[in-house]
Amino acid sequence: LVDAKGAPIYEWGAFVPVEGQRPRATLALSYPLGGWSLAFYASPQLSGTGLSRGLWFNVGTALGVVVIATIGLAIYFYREYTRDIRLAAQRVSFVNQVSHELKTPLTNIRMYAELLQRGLDDSDEKSRTHLGVIVSESQRLSRLIGNVLTFSRRERHTLKLRTEPASVDAIIGAVLDHYRPALDAKEIETVFKSGAPDQVLVDTDVVEQIVGNLISNVEKYGANGKLLIVETSQDGDEVMIQVADAGPGIPESERERVFEPFYRVSDRLSDGVAGTGIGLAIARELAVLHGGALILVSSERGAAFLVTLHCPRVPKGGGA
Ligand code: ADP
Repeated sequence: LVDAKGAPIYEWGAFVPVEGQRPRATLALSYPLGGWSLAFYASPQLSGTGLSRGLWFNVGTALGVVVIATIGLAIYFYREYTRDIRLAAQRVSFVNQVSHELKTPLTNIRMYAELLQRGLDDSDEKSRTHLGVIVSESQRLSRLIGNVLTFSRRERHTLKLRTEPASVDAIIGAVLDHYRPALDAKEIETVFKSGAPDQVLVDTDVVEQIVGNLISNVEKYGANGKLLIVETSQDGDEVMIQVADAGPGIPESERERVFEPFYRVSDRLSDGVAGTGIGLAIARELAVLHGGALILVSSERGAAFLVTLHCPRVPKGGGA
């Protein structure tokens, strides 16, 4: 800070100007310090034409290092990112292939066990029980494999509907027949209130998978309620399927989360019960694919799931 005659009033900073050195910049102060000004002095190395070569060199080197480091980091992260994507894709395709390979032998095991079951006479109670276990366990595995395959198709965006004329009640009746041994084993009484008998355009596999997952959950988590109610109805081109049980139900705070992939409610019920946490996520995805939805509806007891599907009616005497 210098006065009107150029004499310093106050100085700060480490640099002390030499005798007769001119300031690099001045800033005149306004009223009431009109004659005074702020003068900026710097080392002669910084004065004249600008920064010295040495300083330019240092600044240039530092900038170069920063640029190279940034490019290096960008390349590193890009490679890590693409490697992760590649690994994830490989994993999905591996799981997909293994699941495909498992499907055929499992179908054969199930088919032969069912054939044996039919050939048994009623007196052979023990063999009947053993075969029942083989059938229901292979069914459980088939459902799991079906879910994994659907999940990997979903990841690869290749999930597609294959509709054909069928009756939703007939499809559900067959699913219930399949699950009967497993439900009987846990003494779960099944009530089927059928109300969707008409022929509609529907993807049988999709309905089987959605309803299969819901019934399997009743058997896994709601068995102590000893009751399964499946109810269907038809309204125009919409088909409704409700699957309800009298088990412990799903806590309010978990009602949306159970539809997230891999999410499992951690409590005494799901601890120790085999599961992957993708059943409900897939069931919802399939319902949406079929032009509908899957929601958890409120009920007095247990859990109640409502599936809606868009299934255009097949004109009487017509085909697909
Ligand atoms: P998973 O059965 O493989 O765990 P799901 O996606 O089918 O996966 O179900 C997610 C979670 O929702 C289950 O872990 C369970 O805690 C809960 N759940 C599903 N259905 C029922 C039900 N009927 N009663 C009680 N809890 C259920």
